[in-house]
Amino acid sequence: MPELPEVEVLRRYLDPLVSGKRLCELRVFKSRVVRPESSGKLIATVKGCRVKGVERRGKFLWLNLVKSRLRTPFPLVIHLGMTGRLFVQPSAAELPRHVTAVFRLGRESLIFKDTRLFGRITLETDSIEQLGPDPITDEFLVSDLQSAIGKSAQPVKVRLMNQRVLAGLGNIYACEVLHRAGISPFMKSSDLRLAKFKELHEAIVSTLARQVEFGMSLDLDFIGETTGDGLFYFGSRHGQARKSKERFRVYGRAGEPCGICSSIIKRAELGKRGTFFCVKCQKE
Ligand SMILES: [Zn+2]
Repeated sequence: MPELPEVEVLRRYLDPLVSGKRLCELRVFKSRVVRPESSGKLIATVKGCRVKGVERRGKFLWLNLVKSRLRTPFPLVIHLGMTGRLFVQPSAAELPRHVTAVFRLGRESLIFKDTRLFGRITLETDSIEQLGPDPITDEFLVSDLQSAIGKSAQPVKVRLMNQRVLAGLGNIYACEVLHRAGISPFMKSSDLRLAKFKELHEAIVSTLARQVEFGMSLDLDFIGETTGDGLFYFGSRHGQARKSKERFRVYGRAGEPCGICSSIIKRAELGKRGTFFCVKCQKE
C-alpha cells in the first residue's frame, strides 16, 4: 500500500502534467470505485472543470477543480487503496487492464487503474478532514506529535498508524521511524517521555523527507503497463525494488543483522500487521 512518501512523489509528478488542463470527460469503468455518491452525479459535477493543481494530505490525493462559472476550487479526492495507480498517457493509447476510471484532459488522459478495487474517487471531503497532522505538509512540531499520540494505552506503533492521529504513516514507515528513534513498537504510548518524542519527531520528518527525495530521483515511467508499478511503489524496474528495500532499516528484514548493533531483526504480529524491530536498539 502506498504511504505518504509514495503518494507525495506521485503528486509531484502529476501536478505539472495535469495542472491547467480541462477535464473534458470522466469515464468510470468500475462503479464501486466511486463512493458514496453515484458515479453519474460525480461525472456531471466534474465535467468541464479545470484542474488547478494536485494536492495531498496523508495518503490522500485530490485534484483541485474549478468550474469556469464558479471561482472557488473544490477537491476531487482520490485514494489509491492497496493497488491503485495513477498515470498520464495519450488519450488515443490503448487502455491498460484493470482500468477503473479515465479522466480525459484533451490529448492526454489521467488513468486510474486498480487491480484490487480498494481505491476510491469521491467529492466527499470527510476522510481528509478527519486526518491528523501531515508530517511534511503542515508545520509539524514535537508538541503536535505529543498531543496527537496523547496518553493512549495503545502500543506506539498502532497509534502511529492511525490516520486520525497522524496522516501518512503505514506499516512500512511506522516500523522504520521507530527503529530510527530507538523505540519499541510495543511500548505503551503513554510511557513515551519528552526526549523520546523529540527523537521520534526527528525520525518521522527525516525518514519521510529522505524517502520522497529518493522517490524523486528514480526514473519513473507513467505509461508502460509493465512499469506502472514503479510510479509509487518505488521501482519494479532496473533493480529499483532491490535498491528501495536496501534503504529500509528493519522493514522486511527479519533474520538479517541490524545495521546499528548487528542483532538479528525480529518479526512479530502487532495489530494484525507484521512488525519488524531490533530487540537491542528498540527497548521498551
Ligand atoms: Zn539494533
